Amino acid sequence: MKILSINAGSSSLKFQMYEMPEETVLISGVFERIGIENSFYTIKMNGEKIKKEVALPNHKIAFQILIDELKEYHVVDSLDEIKGVGHRVVQGGAYFDKTEIATEDVISKIDELSSLAPLHNPAAIVGIRAAQEVIPNAVQTVVFDTAFHQTMEEETYLYALPYEWYQNYGVRKYGAHGTSHKYVALRANQLIGKENTKLITCHIGNGGSVSAVWNGKCKNTSMGLTPNAGLIMGTRCGDIDATIIPYIMEKTGMTAKEIDNILNKQSGLLGISGVSNDSRDIEDGIQAGNERCILAQEMYIKRIVNYIAQYYVELDGCDAICFTAGVGENSIGVRKKIIERLSVLGLKLDEEANNVRGQEVLITSPDSSIPCYVIPTDEEVMIARDTYLLCK
Ligand code: ADP
Repeated sequence: MKILSINAGSSSLKFQMYEMPEETVLISGVFERIGIENSFYTIKMNGEKIKKEVALPNHKIAFQILIDELKEYHVVDSLDEIKGVGHRVVQGGAYFDKTEIATEDVISKIDELSSLAPLHNPAAIVGIRAAQEVIPNAVQTVVFDTAFHQTMEEETYLYALPYEWYQNYGVRKYGAHGTSHKYVALRANQLIGKENTKLITCHIGNGGSVSAVWNGKCKNTSMGLTPNAGLIMGTRCGDIDATIIPYIMEKTGMTAKEIDNILNKQSGLLGISGVSNDSRDIEDGIQAGNERCILAQEMYIKRIVNYIAQYYVELDGCDAICFTAGVGENSIGVRKKIIERLSVLGLKLDEEANNVRGQEVLITSPDSSIPCYVIPTDEEVMIARDTYLLCK
């Protein structure tokens, strides 16, 4: 059965087509700069990559081009071969704890939740609508980044704020990156060879979050009402004293929107270093002796280590710690520093094993108290799996 996995952003559309249940990737690619000038798309198939520059006024046109390319490459001969299209949705609020078929009711709830994910939820709806028009006979499903975190208990997801804010405005922790944490936890259980496990999964990319996973279910996660909580990220501040916001508003006269923009886009590694949000640039800065890059990385690593330690206690022990996403999969130096800081818990790095990028590997030595794995994430296959199950 052919299933298309879709991740629509406001100006982009990533796709991956699978043959299910084998999970074979038939073709993948991304449409970029949709709705703006100099738009283009790239396609990967059979190890070959092509790039084409073409006008992409909207997501519907991108889908139409995608269908033409699928036919051109003989991935499908007829549209009816595509049985399901799975869409990634960032915010599912408290409505969704699993993947759903994109009915009108479901779409209106995604729309209602847009105030919590103003850049992402509206873009996902545009993607769903475009897919419905271009591939009308396929089952459209929605896979939520927040769904995996719905197993958190009230004592974990509530903030110590007036309870009415939770009741009236839905102010609580929802988390994010759930599809990735779930994939990594499933894979870790396979590597360890058991299902009843206590895991700490670290998704550290430009955005970042740590989750505590108990017997395959999320017990806690570092992101909150929005993705700007927990870890220090590329441009997001993560946890801060909330009173900083009214304090700076009074000092500078900035509006809530202006402050929000700074907390999300000009803080984190970029804000501290003044150099870049990209951990590769920070590493280069450290090599060149840039003090603020050294400071930024220190703070970044300290926050990750503190979350791991917190979840170690919360889980009452840990069977494995897993690293994924851009930094987790590729930064040999960041992983090394995190594991060395955790030597108090008996962790021991295997330097040689850690000297890899983008590969699934055990990076601690056999006498480490807790094994640490690098597990490259695969959110697309999770979308395809859920969509396949709903189509069946
Ligand atoms: P996003 O949150 O946007 O999905 P990714 O998971 O793709 O982010 O991670 C992107 C980040 O990964 C980059 O900003 C960079 O900091 C980091 N990264 C990628 N490759 C390397 C590398 N070789 N060494 C260190 N960091 C890397």
